[in-house]
Amino acid sequence: MAASIDEAEPRQSRALVSEPYQVTTVGFRARPDHLETEQEEFLSEIEDRVVESSEQTRGVLRLTGVSTASLTDDEAVGGPLVPQDFVAYLRDSGLNPAFAERVAQVAARVSESRRLDGIAQSTPLAAPVAVDYRETSGYGQRIDPFTGRPTFHSGLDMAAFERAPVVATSPGTVVYAGTRSGYGYTVEIDHGHGFKTRYAHLRDIQVQRGDTVAIGQRVGSMGSTGRSTATHLHYEVWFRGRSVDPVNFLRAGRHVHEQG
Ligand SMILES: [Zn+2]
Repeated sequence: MAASIDEAEPRQSRALVSEPYQVTTVGFRARPDHLETEQEEFLSEIEDRVVESSEQTRGVLRLTGVSTASLTDDEAVGGPLVPQDFVAYLRDSGLNPAFAERVAQVAARVSESRRLDGIAQSTPLAAPVAVDYRETSGYGQRIDPFTGRPTFHSGLDMAAFERAPVVATSPGTVVYAGTRSGYGYTVEIDHGHGFKTRYAHLRDIQVQRGDTVAIGQRVGSMGSTGRSTATHLHYEVWFRGRSVDPVNFLRAGRHVHEQG
C-alpha cells in the first residue's frame, strides 16, 4: 500500500509544476486537462486495487466468524480514516476541488485497506502445530473424558507426536508462560485487536512472559501435561474475552494460502 501512495506523489507534483504553461502559452492549454485525466485514471487504478485487496481481506476475516464490522468500527484504535490535516492540505493545495475530493476519497480507501491489513495481521490464521496433525476433539459441547459428563470444550485438540513443534499462530506478545491448573504447561499470546491464543498440555515452554513472538515462532513442544489423556495440543482462540472456534480460523488461514 505504501508504494501506491509514493507512486502517486510524483504525478501530482508534475501537474502542479506544469500549471504556469496554462497562463503563458496558449498552445499548452490542453495539457493540464490531459494530465488531470491521466491522474484520474491513475487514482481509479489505485482505488480498484485497494478496494479489491480490502474485499479479499474482509472475505478472509468473515470466514473466521468474527464480525469485521465490530473490528473496523473501532475508531479508538484506528483513528479517523483520513487525517484532518491532510484534508486541509488538499483544500489549500490549489488543486481543482473535484480532483482534490477524488484524492481524499482514494486516500480513505487506502487507509481502510491498511487498517484491514493490520487486523488481518493480528488474526491468528496459521496452524499452531508445525507438522502434520490430526484434529482429535473439536470446540463445543462434549463428554469430558475424565468425568464422563457433558462439558464445554473451549478449544481444539490437535495430535501429532511428543515434542512436535508448537508455534505462534500470528505475531504477538507472550502474556502467560507457565503452569495452569488442568492445562499443564501453557503459553498465552496477545495478538492485538482483541485476539488471544492459548497453547496447553505442552511438554516444555520455549518463551517467556513479555517476549515478542513472530508468526510461526516456536513457543514450546507438544506433550501431555495437566489434565490430558494422551499427547496432544489443546489450542484456544479468544476474541474480546470470549473463546471462539479455532477451526474457523484454520479454515480461513488455508484460504489465505490458496490465494497465494
Ligand atoms: Zn482440549
